[in-house]
Amino acid sequence: MKRLADAALGIEPKLRLRTSQQVFATLLFLGCIVILHYAATLSGAPRPLLWVWTGLSIGAQLLFYALVRSGWSARTAEPSLTVPQIVVAQTAAASAYPLSGPLGPLVLPISMLILVFGMFRLSGMAAVRLAWLSLVLLSGAMALAVWVWPRDAALPLVIGHWMMALVTFPGVAILTGRISTMRHRLREQREQLNQALARIEELATRDTLTGLYNRRHAEGLLEQAWQRRQRGGGSFCVALIDLDHFKQINDRHGHAAGDAVLCAFAEHAEQGLRGTDTLARWGGEEFLLLLDHTDTMGALQVLERMQAAVARLRVPVGDEVIGVGFSAGLAMCLDGEHLKPMLERADQALYRAKAEGRGKVVRV
Ligand code: GH3
Ligand code: MG
Ligand code: MG
Repeated sequence: MKRLADAALGIEPKLRLRTSQQVFATLLFLGCIVILHYAATLSGAPRPLLWVWTGLSIGAQLLFYALVRSGWSARTAEPSLTVPQIVVAQTAAASAYPLSGPLGPLVLPISMLILVFGMFRLSGMAAVRLAWLSLVLLSGAMALAVWVWPRDAALPLVIGHWMMALVTFPGVAILTGRISTMRHRLREQREQLNQALARIEELATRDTLTGLYNRRHAEGLLEQAWQRRQRGGGSFCVALIDLDHFKQINDRHGHAAGDAVLCAFAEHAEQGLRGTDTLARWGGEEFLLLLDHTDTMGALQVLERMQAAVARLRVPVGDEVIGVGFSAGLAMCLDGEHLKPMLERADQALYRAKAEGRGKVVRV
């Protein structure tokens, strides 16, 4: 249901992931604002100042939420807006320290939680830089606290908090950096794996010479078309196509010229086909044309167009240009007929086309 709603709004899955993280971050940070507001209230922070801090912190968080959720941030280099969000959140957390008096140390775990969020998005180096920036902000806030708080109690307390920050922040920074580096490496490996899988799929389904689908893949497509037909999915046709006198091309011009003719034929023959039609290399100089949702008359028209296109084909070989023609046997899948007999009928029709002088399409 949610997917349907998102699709209606034009929200991509990636954006959905980003917004769900954003909802989590927003709720978490709003919780932190409540805690710090409570701490500052207990410590007797001036009311107007406290409400300005709370208003600005909540406002900034809601603004980030709106920017990501609306899709506006997708136009920026970093659509998750992680860096500005962390900087703003750390500034809000650090500025709560002088307001929170003896409860100021509550800022430390909150500040670290904000840093940990960075590990999901940032590079290792960016995470470490942000950790240092957070430490600097907090140190500034602590210096302010020494000045604002009652003199006698302030300094020893703040020094204790600062020492704690000095030890724990670099630790969190290093761990955050390492985890984010690991995540980046994992993502890279996943991308490489996807590329390798795409390549393997390409190798498994394509003919290396012509780039057409190979016989194995064509057999799978035939099976799918047949299954669809059994479920009442409409008729389909197959044509077995064989280049005429191809051996002569090899004999006269060499095997490489024959290969060039095969490639040129594949390219030209495919040009006039619809997206649902498939031309595959069946073997040698034989090709299979699968025409889904097509009756015999439609298939004949496609083959006539293909013959006209191939007739215009001129392949340059040395100082000469070679042309090529083909014969084809066409069969439409009959009610209750299995694939094998259908292909046999197409093969017999091809045999007749050859016997009747080549350059023809014979249907059965
Ligand atoms: P027909 O009109 O009766 O079909 O005659 P044809 O010469 O086309 O048929 P034949 O079966 O006698 O010869 C087919 C030739 O195709 C023989 C084979 O060496 C050649 N051949 C098969 N695969 C390839 C290939 O990948 N590259 C090249 N260059 N030739 C190939
Ligand atoms: Mg042949
Ligand atoms: Mg031939």
